[in-house]
Amino acid sequence: MNIAYVALGANLGDPAATIRAAFGALANLPESRVVHCSSLYRTAPVGNTEQPEFINAVAALETTLAPESLLDALFDIEARFGRIRAEKNGPRTLDLDLLLYNNQQLNLPRLTLPHPRLHLRAFVLYPLAELAPDLQLPGRGSIAAWLPAVANQGISRL
Ligand code: ADP
Ligand code: MG
Repeated sequence: MNIAYVALGANLGDPAATIRAAFGALANLPESRVVHCSSLYRTAPVGNTEQPEFINAVAALETTLAPESLLDALFDIEARFGRIRAEKNGPRTLDLDLLLYNNQQLNLPRLTLPHPRLHLRAFVLYPLAELAPDLQLPGRGSIAAWLPAVANQGISRL
């Protein structure tokens, strides 16, 4: 059995509802079981401040899917959510990133593990640290050591 961490993010329509529904989609993945879901976090958009706030979360999965098969399955879920039209709220988009897969370090054209920007983003580090406060990031040391550097990024638990 392998342990994988998946980051979820949404900022259109009702992003909190999208993230909760995406937890459900992850629970339906083949050969996989959701073992933990983090709280939802509200993050101010960086850069283009005209766009709505983001809702982010992280899920921990046990899976026997190989990393690339899991990534394909995540892309399938993203595509399904991209097509959803809420009656009132318009389109909803969903971003799913594979953060970690065991302690694997991979550099394939379409899959880098650990996710290359995970240690720089409060909206990934905070929910990930909630699920796994003692986590070691392959090649990058402890998650706890990275948290102070992103504390100024403006994130709050829902
Ligand atoms: P982002 O998540 O950075 O906002 P996208 O979701 O559009 O952007 O992903 C861009 C590309 O990143 C995808 O084509 C995917 O193949 C690649 N990628 C590389 N490593 C990973 C990973 N660990 N998780 C998800 N996507 C990844
Ligand atoms: Mg992505």
